Amino acid sequence: MDTDTAGRRRQARASLDGLVLGDAFGDSWFLRSDEPAEELLAARRPRPAPWLWTDDSAMAFVLFAHLTQHGEVRPDLLAGDFAARYASDPDRGYGPSMHNVLRRIGEGEDWRVVTTGHFGGQGSFGNGAAMRVAPLGAWFGADLAAVVEQARLSALITHAHPEAVAGAVAVAVAAALAASGAGRAVPVRSEFLREVAGHVPSSDVRSGLLTAAGFPDGTSVRHAASVLGSGTHLSAPDTVPFALWSAAGGLDDLPETLWRTVAGWGDRDTTCAIAGGVVAARAGTGGVPGAWRQACEPIPGWSGWTLL
Ligand SMILES: [Mg+2]
Repeated sequence: MDTDTAGRRRQARASLDGLVLGDAFGDSWFLRSDEPAEELLAARRPRPAPWLWTDDSAMAFVLFAHLTQHGEVRPDLLAGDFAARYASDPDRGYGPSMHNVLRRIGEGEDWRVVTTGHFGGQGSFGNGAAMRVAPLGAWFGADLAAVVEQARLSALITHAHPEAVAGAVAVAVAAALAASGAGRAVPVRSEFLREVAGHVPSSDVRSGLLTAAGFPDGTSVRHAASVLGSGTHLSAPDTVPFALWSAAGGLDDLPETLWRTVAGWGDRDTTCAIAGGVVAARAGTGGVPGAWRQACEPIPGWSGWTLL
């Protein structure tokens, strides 16, 4: 393995670690209705352990293990891998439509038929293809054509709608750009978001990124979440632009990025998984407090994590 490849794989591994920390951190902030959410968040006191990872991490592990084994996305095999993992551990917060998709693929139906038949033939435009893909972006790094194509292939297995694919491409490109810019000056937020958007097909996701790129400095999280959405609809367009806006505002600071991202509330495990995966591709996870690390459920060996 040459030095560049080894470096990219280290960044992909860091991205996976950041994704899992974000997922588990974000999920810990789903509070009971009698807890004073804004007050607790303002105090920045981490939630009680354990912080369990959810479907975002489970699917990211499968994709990462697949890359370590095959070096690229092989859709038929990856579909089987997703379904097998789901069958062995289904209670990780998968969305209602994904239960159906992954169960049917596991029963032997062709993933193309299952996935394109969903939602009246449109396919899912949920955020599930975007939430798992940041490490793939770091893996293919500087080869942005490969990043785009591999992200597209990885998305289509479960999410046929062009918005879901655009969301996955955006997150993968953001992670790739973050990783390949490591060691250089941190990019200007608006320029970073415009550069990502330049690789994303015309879509609501792309429009959201360009809207986010136009926000003035000092835009509040509340305003960004209100304009862009923060995953309340669990869709790619109302999740990805906010998550990447938050990531782009702190590419060298993972803990700060996660605090900012969770403050958008919404689908907070997924927005934090996306932002965490992108930032960690560049910054690594060394800045994460030890208590967070201890609270977070460990990454399982089957993820390929221990092979690199
Ligand atoms: Mg989740």
